[in-house]
Amino acid sequence: MRIILLGPPGVGKGTQASNIVKKYNIPHISTGDIFRANIKSGTELGITAKSYMDKGLLVPDEIVVSIVQDRLAQDDCKDGFLLDGFPRTVEQAEALDIELDKMGIKLDKVVNIDADKDVLIARVTGRRICKECGATYHVINNPPKVEGVCDIDGGELYQRADDTEETVATRIQVYLEQTQPLIDYYRKKGLLLDVDGTKPIEEVFRTIINSIE
Ligand SMILES: [Zn+2]
Repeated sequence: MRIILLGPPGVGKGTQASNIVKKYNIPHISTGDIFRANIKSGTELGITAKSYMDKGLLVPDEIVVSIVQDRLAQDDCKDGFLLDGFPRTVEQAEALDIELDKMGIKLDKVVNIDADKDVLIARVTGRRICKECGATYHVINNPPKVEGVCDIDGGELYQRADDTEETVATRIQVYLEQTQPLIDYYRKKGLLLDVDGTKPIEEVFRTIINSIE
């Protein structure tokens, strides 16, 4: 199963990604994770990537594409993979197509989880995290027993500084503008699966599974 997963901040993409990779026993490939790991261990790739990120610049396509290509060639990707956070642009998607062609493999599906902007903003701004154990809550969807206090260890709950309404709205807007051409690209190829991300987690997962099998 070879899948690309798309979805705006707050849509529950992370949860669905871990459900999918568990179900099909495939690796979850996140370019963000690969970069962070390389930066942490100080590899040449990490140093190059960091030099762009430190200047607030995007890491150039050729570097991103080459790390993905490298990762997809590893043994654990033989029976499939889930790509998350890549491609971000049509140019990257075209580069990926060329690589997959060379490897003689094809994508099965591009899963696009979507929801209204207002729903996404409410989800993200309601998020609270425990200072002690990192457990996550939501003031409406998943509230702790006592307001502001972690159920597990009594730790104080806080809101991430960049989870305010204004920054979330900007993040979502940037995502939507950036991703729309990519969505159109895969729709034209007949690979796109639109999924309603406002439905319960279980239902979203079932919809994805039913359509990719
Ligand atoms: Zn806690």
